Amino acid sequence: MENKNKKKLPGDPKKTKTNIIICVIAAFFAFGLIVFLNAEIQRNTHKEITYTKFINMLKEGKVEKVTFGRNVINIEPKEGERVAMIKVTYYTGYVNDTALVQDMLNKYNVEFSAEIDNKSSGILDFFLAYILPFVGMWVVLWLLMRMMTKSSGGGIMGVGKSTAKMYVEKETGVTFRDVAGEEEAKESLTELVDFLKNPNKYREIGARLPKGALLVGPPGTGKTLLAKALAGEAHVPFFSLSGSDFVEMFVGVGASRVRDLFKQAQSMAPCIIFIDEIDAIGKSRDSHYGGNDEREQTLNQLLSEMDGFDSSKGIVILGATNRPEVLDKALLRPGRFDRRIIVEKPDLKGRVDVLRVHSNGVNMDDTVDLHEIALATSGAVGADLANMVNEAAIMAVKDGRMAVGQKDLFEAVEVVFAGKEKKDRILGKEEKKIVAYHEVGHALVTTLLKHAEPVQKITIVPRTMGALGYVMQVPEEEKYLRKKEELLSEIVTFLGGRAAEEIIFDDITTGASNDIERATSIARAMITQYGMSEKFGMIGLESVQNQYLDGRTVMNCADVTESEVDQEVMRLLKECYDRAYKLIDGHQDVLHKLAAHLVEKETITGKEFVTIFEEETGITVKKTKSKEEEEQDGEKTSEES
Ligand code: ADP
Ligand code: ZN
Repeated sequence: MENKNKKKLPGDPKKTKTNIIICVIAAFFAFGLIVFLNAEIQRNTHKEITYTKFINMLKEGKVEKVTFGRNVINIEPKEGERVAMIKVTYYTGYVNDTALVQDMLNKYNVEFSAEIDNKSSGILDFFLAYILPFVGMWVVLWLLMRMMTKSSGGGIMGVGKSTAKMYVEKETGVTFRDVAGEEEAKESLTELVDFLKNPNKYREIGARLPKGALLVGPPGTGKTLLAKALAGEAHVPFFSLSGSDFVEMFVGVGASRVRDLFKQAQSMAPCIIFIDEIDAIGKSRDSHYGGNDEREQTLNQLLSEMDGFDSSKGIVILGATNRPEVLDKALLRPGRFDRRIIVEKPDLKGRVDVLRVHSNGVNMDDTVDLHEIALATSGAVGADLANMVNEAAIMAVKDGRMAVGQKDLFEAVEVVFAGKEKKDRILGKEEKKIVAYHEVGHALVTTLLKHAEPVQKITIVPRTMGALGYVMQVPEEEKYLRKKEELLSEIVTFLGGRAAEEIIFDDITTGASNDIERATSIARAMITQYGMSEKFGMIGLESVQNQYLDGRTVMNCADVTESEVDQEVMRLLKECYDRAYKLIDGHQDVLHKLAAHLVEKETITGKEFVTIFEEETGITVKKTKSKEEEEQDGEKTSEES
């Protein structure tokens, strides 16, 4: 999700204003405190004494200076006690003692003077010392309380309604044109655009419109983007929240947030409420997925709000999830999220479209062929593709070029799929050789199996995401159905790396772990889901649990069967490995040649690969390129027209 353009509801300028007020108040408070302390110190360092004591001090010669004030005599002793480093002075009242001045002049030899009284009265002093600090303190306390209640959005203890995490955009500025592909999803949403624009039209007829729609699909396929586009098309505000924002530690918070959200939305209707990751609150309430009081309360509140609000005002709630299977059935009932809009991973054409949308505004040179990039990125979602275009642009800039070329795009594809080149990880000579044979093993097997040109590039430059080397393959075309033989070829290809290692080095390495994992999952799926094993036939032994995330499966068969399945998977993998072994064993010459070349160059292109392969084996490789080029040419002309 992109966060730019988003604005927190409590406006920022307001916040700085309160900050200034707080600073001013704090300064006042500090000033008052200083005055107060000053007064306290004065009280302790300026003590009253009796007149007799004063006269005695004079007689004893202890007085340094005398100042006659309006109604006090201030006495400064020569030496005496100190409080906090400050010399203590004394004062006493007037007594009708006419001889004092004469005595001081003649007998005691004390410096004395009279105070010129132009000081203000003591009231101001009193105010500064006592009233101001208290007022300041109260103001600060009051402000603190206010701040606390504000940040928790209600109750003083921080448990209450909150709008803290809700974002609202008055105008998203996104339209359906910014969403590439996903035609079906857009079509379903178009209907809602009109509803949001003219809710009255529908109300007059008495039509009941859907309150909510559920956007279902893998992460990064543009669900958020679609929701924003709907808001943009209808020119209505866009409220967005994530399901996980509702679920807090305190019971009841989520529910009150839901209430708050709907209240706000209703005041701004027509509008769109978008709840991302709705599965965080909408998880089924049965104990299968673990109960949680807070979540259930939140869900109940959401359900009752959805039932309660008047849809004729023009509020549409969109939820997004990639785990529709865990959602509570109550959420999916008519009148709630009764529509389900599937947002699929883009197919070839969709990927070209996404690439095109994101290349808008990016300088690209003539070498760029988005169709080819789309071919090489099967399985990528919109977010990946957007990322690739951006990476490519960054690479071009780093290179000091003004436009993005096809090479940048391919490099970006690799970066997104395999990570960045890890320049500092230098493979040792021996390891380099092993990796080279392993990768050539894959490439050789796939070429021998298909007699086609599926290899685009082989490299043994390590990447940040863990691969020490890899073979980039070109899928000839987008496939929706897979034949059994194709699946088997794929497994054999995965195992070709390990086979090459074993044949050449008579030893095996850990480098094949990922290959094994992937080969196993294909083999398992063939047996348990596709009904492709003779032993079990067409029985569904496994079902996919979350199809939009990692495609995790659950077994639904007896324990005995499960172990038999394992046996069968083992047998199938063994068979495939033997095939790979035989293929490579029979073509050792070309394997050596290619591996040596790879060790030297670190990267070889599909063309170089084919040249060496054809020279050594005498097998002609079918060129898939020409057909593609034709297609591209056709597409280019149609674009221009
Ligand atoms: P989701 O909500 O499904 O996880 P998002 O809507 O957040 O995915 O998509 C993330 C980004 O990927 C978008 O901001 C956009 O740049 C890009 N993207 C995804 N799908 C598309 C698409 N169909 N067309 C254009 N851009 C897309
Ligand atoms: Zn491998």
